[in-house]
Amino acid sequence: MLAENLFQRIIEGKIPANVIHDDEHCLAFHDISPQAPVHVLIIPKKIIPTHDVLTREDGPLMGHLHLVGLKLAKDLGLVDGYRLVINCKDRGGQTVPHLHMHLLGGRDFHWPPG
Ligand code: 5GP
Repeated sequence: MLAENLFQRIIEGKIPANVIHDDEHCLAFHDISPQAPVHVLIIPKKIIPTHDVLTREDGPLMGHLHLVGLKLAKDLGLVDGYRLVINCKDRGGQTVPHLHMHLLGGRDFHWPPG
């Protein structure tokens, strides 16, 4: 079950977050419950509930999120690699119904994921 959307309230500044990137299209902030030494969430400011509603017109925005992820990975010193994750809906493990990309790093990751 998806929790009430709180990322929109973070974008609106109604809930505090440890923001490390803010531009016209997206916001990035540290996850409140980090699963790795680096765990950052990169979210579009456009309201997009989940990955499977994306359309072709969202392509440049999604490209932007990836490039911000790459920049933050470099800024945060993740020179040996990192993982970008987008969970989609319940079976994908999504709990907040506002599209977001996880940037995880600072430890080894394994495959298959849990
Ligand atoms: P999902 O499971 O939807 O892919 O990821 C949601 C993420 O949001 C989780 O990693 C969770 O720890 C994080 N999260 C939930 N509530 C808050 C919050 O209030 N602030 C921050 N910074 N992260 C949150």
